Amino acid sequence: MRVLCYHSISDAADAWSVPPARFAWQARWLARTLGAARVALSFDDGYADFLHVWPWLREFGFRVMVFAVSAKLGGGADWEGAARLPLLARDDLSALAQQGVEIGAHSATHARLSQLPPEAARAQIVQARAQLEAVTGAPVRRFAYPYSEATPALVEMVRAAGFEQAYVMRSGYGRARLTTRRIPVAGADGALRFALKALTGYASWVDLRMDVRGVPG
Ligand SMILES: [Zn+2]
Repeated sequence: MRVLCYHSISDAADAWSVPPARFAWQARWLARTLGAARVALSFDDGYADFLHVWPWLREFGFRVMVFAVSAKLGGGADWEGAARLPLLARDDLSALAQQGVEIGAHSATHARLSQLPPEAARAQIVQARAQLEAVTGAPVRRFAYPYSEATPALVEMVRAAGFEQAYVMRSGYGRARLTTRRIPVAGADGALRFALKALTGYASWVDLRMDVRGVPG
């Protein structure tokens, strides 16, 4: 199954926000070209603008995952490099979970986990799971590494916390269970570039070259 990684679906000016009209085209194209059953769409950070696309997106039948930042629900994305956009609230998240959106964890505060002392990093991972399970009333089985940092130590913490699967943001075909790749979609991806990403599994020649050379990650 091909997994795409989105962030905000909005006209915000940051590099990762995909304009709604462009996203609608992409969803239709994926359903028509690859088939909705073969594609999963993931949305990192849990931006509130997801609520605008979900009512029509759910009709396609894609597997949809939202990776939420558990201690920031109902607040804003205020961490390093963030788009400063509003985030889904607790009630939004529990309603989405009941409507078939899988809620995954994206740490407690979107910290750079590799730069924290081990105990603090572990707490970010364990707390996120507990807090999101309390909100949704459902098991939280998947994790997305903030900033795509998946060092061996962090992977081991995610495993120990009981997550079944964890995702990085890197295109290609690495399918290790705790470092599963997702193809990142950027706001500037036009139709051709998006189609190439979705069809080949690679976002860029740089990613392809890293794989050919055997660069781990
Ligand atoms: Zn993130």
